[in-house]
Amino acid sequence: MNSILQNDLNDFENILEKTKQHGIDFLNNLDTIPTSNKNTIDPAGNLNEFGLGSLAALAEFNERLAPLMVSSPGPRYLGFVTGGSTPASIVGDWLASVYDQNTQAVKAQGGASALIEFETINFLLQLLELPDTFSGGFVTGATMSNFTCLGVARQWFGKQFGKDFAKNGISESISILTATPHSSSIKCLSMLGIGSQNYTSIKTIEGNREAIDLFDLEENIKKLNGKPFILISSAGTVNTADFDDFEAIAALRRKYNFWWHIDAAFGGFAAVSDKFNHLVEGWEGADSITIDCHKWLNVPYESAFYLMKKEHLSLQIETFQNSNAPYLGNPLENFNYLNVLPENSRRLRALPAWFALRAYGKDGFKDIVENSTSLALHFANALIETGSFELLAPIRLNNVCFTLKGNHNQEKVNEFLTILNDKGKVFMTPTFYQNKKGIRASFVNWRTTEEDIAIIMEEMKTSILDLEI
Ligand SMILES: *Cc1c(COP(=O)(O)O)cnc(C)c1O
Repeated sequence: MNSILQNDLNDFENILEKTKQHGIDFLNNLDTIPTSNKNTIDPAGNLNEFGLGSLAALAEFNERLAPLMVSSPGPRYLGFVTGGSTPASIVGDWLASVYDQNTQAVKAQGGASALIEFETINFLLQLLELPDTFSGGFVTGATMSNFTCLGVARQWFGKQFGKDFAKNGISESISILTATPHSSSIKCLSMLGIGSQNYTSIKTIEGNREAIDLFDLEENIKKLNGKPFILISSAGTVNTADFDDFEAIAALRRKYNFWWHIDAAFGGFAAVSDKFNHLVEGWEGADSITIDCHKWLNVPYESAFYLMKKEHLSLQIETFQNSNAPYLGNPLENFNYLNVLPENSRRLRALPAWFALRAYGKDGFKDIVENSTSLALHFANALIETGSFELLAPIRLNNVCFTLKGNHNQEKVNEFLTILNDKGKVFMTPTFYQNKKGIRASFVNWRTTEEDIAIIMEEMKTSILDLEI
């Protein structure tokens, strides 16, 4: 064994102890670590000939790399849709590295960690009050979940014409209908060879909505003259957290032949609260659903899962099987995750979610969701009270989409956001909505409290003053 590795092996416990201490220092200071910084490194350095050993690497990390980090798991990072990591989820994430299992087969000789994934999906279905007519698996993020679901949808589409696209390539033009797809779904159309421009935009409901207009949807379905299609619908759009009407889509599903996909990356968590579960009523009728765990489940990146109706398992295997590797077994006889999703080797990715679900239960996640949503409302009200801001959309769930009040201030929106973000106390992201430059604040972090809103409002007010100087 290389001598540096041998030293590390001998000193393993001490190394982990120091790493733990470093982690605790970061977590204990999340409140005061800035949400943005301008620190940088020159990434073009040379690789050392001889190893430094873990402790020296850790010292270098502390000195050079740690200063690049921002408080994105902290309570005031409201950009994109950014969750944090709960204690239990970090335990699961650490142990996933420690145990370092390759999570593939259920009946595996070398360990059946896929069973842990089954159990976690089972718990998640219960959390979201979805039936066990779905199976599921873990991927890196909602983008890959959309990819998995739409990949199987593509195979389903071919089957309607007696064709096997997975084997022979796409030989029919695939009809996709959607109103407000997330950019990642469009990226998936590109990755899947369908083409990022090859979809039909359905109107949204009139009057400041991002949800699909059902009349226009049905008009467009009729234009297809009975041809099958894929519908990409939304449970929680990123700008305004709007939801398509799933009961109505379920009714259309009984009339027409289509694959129904729901992107519920963060909005799916509406299901855990009786205050919001009406938003997802009827979603159990979908063929496939995308949900992120590194958003509202507050587990570390990279964690998301797909849900797929069990009746589609053979289509799923056709899409993702390793068909020319006989040593991996017959995909129909022995369930193996590597035959139903994009990756082959995978870490024990379900473990952080398993820990989080066990540690906090249904009630814990209901509290997180209701805390986030009430803080979003509280923040929106505080914004209006200042007289300097206006909402671009009503608060439906956890996202606040707003702008500077008055059309004459439109050119100042980006400058305002830069001033605000540069202060490092809060982070938000820009958007463009209803032909206006706007700002989004998304509440999903379990740590955020009313005190944070007070801090944020102070920053907003001083940034307005700075802007006018
Ligand atoms: C965040 C998000 C995605 C993409 O998720 P990643 O985890 O970044 O891959 C897709 N759809 C919606 C609605 C999202 O909010």
